[in-house]
Amino acid sequence: MLIIDSHQDLAWNMLTYGRDYTRSAKETRRIEAGTTTPERNGDSIVGWPEYQQGRVAVVFSTLFATPARKKETGDILVYTDAGTAHRLYRDQIDVYRKLADSHPDKFRLISSTPELDSVIEHWSRPELDPSGHPVGLIYLMEGADGIRSPHELSEWWDLGLRMIGLAWAGTRYCGGTSDPGPLTNEGRQLISAMADYNFILDLSHMDEAAAYESLDRYEGPLMVTHANCAALMRGSETNRHLPDDVIHGLIERDGVIGVIPLNTFLKVGWMRRNGSRREEVQLDALIAHIDHICQLAGNSKHAAIGSDFDGGFGLQSIPLEMDSIADLQLIAKKLMERGYSETDAENVLGGNWLRFLSRNLPS
Ligand SMILES: [Zn+2]
Repeated sequence: MLIIDSHQDLAWNMLTYGRDYTRSAKETRRIEAGTTTPERNGDSIVGWPEYQQGRVAVVFSTLFATPARKKETGDILVYTDAGTAHRLYRDQIDVYRKLADSHPDKFRLISSTPELDSVIEHWSRPELDPSGHPVGLIYLMEGADGIRSPHELSEWWDLGLRMIGLAWAGTRYCGGTSDPGPLTNEGRQLISAMADYNFILDLSHMDEAAAYESLDRYEGPLMVTHANCAALMRGSETNRHLPDDVIHGLIERDGVIGVIPLNTFLKVGWMRRNGSRREEVQLDALIAHIDHICQLAGNSKHAAIGSDFDGGFGLQSIPLEMDSIADLQLIAKKLMERGYSETDAENVLGGNWLRFLSRNLPS
């Protein structure tokens, strides 16, 4: 089964920690042993050999920077104003371009359906397995502060950007994680302009109020690249998880939701920095979130995977059975043990994102 993973902060890790994703995760761990990186960001779980092993064919790769008021020790991609955010996101596009240009056998940029089809076609040819397949990267902007005005959307479109999330923390466009609030007037103007291009809007990190309003108002395609279900996280004091009403709204709009195998988002109160142990969270906890979305939908066509791997956490903070991105394949096995069909498992691993992208990327 092919995997499409809807969230990885590759450029952020490359620029912040010097990670080289052409290497294996194991090699990165060996190189970083004895540095401060594993303490700050966890041991790496992502690398090209593991993409091959786990048949991860396409990754939504983020453009991300931290607003200065949320800066933590070691953050270097930090902005105080839209101009700086803009430059930091553009730098990350350059990072992805350079990665794909220098390793065309390993990474390819995708911004249209023919480019998507060509990557998927490559992965469906077993005779090419020994030398490996190129991993398709689709840019995903996480937190839209780097878009200085709606007029700039044509420039981002020409650069190949197709997917935009307005929030991380709150931005000047909308309420976000730990910053409750609806869309702002600037946010309303931005999504109205985004619809003209058919940009895909990512509701991840949006506060409920902003998410509801976007579901009502946005005329283009909607998705959630990385979030879990609030109904299974009662007692966690955050607006980061998805209320059932938002999940229902997305299902009605034919959206897809990528769930995150991060222990903090699977067990209320689990925190690496407070000494929580890996043994406390197993993969079943993630399957419960997938199952919750499938139960609300009445089918397996809306749940998917958005690992968020290496995005501020690593090996120390993922379910016990997993060692790297290759182990996302275990999700299929677990789903089938639970009575899901092979087709259902294929939908969750990659089929749902594949159909969503085929519908919504330009041809
Ligand atoms: Zn995020």
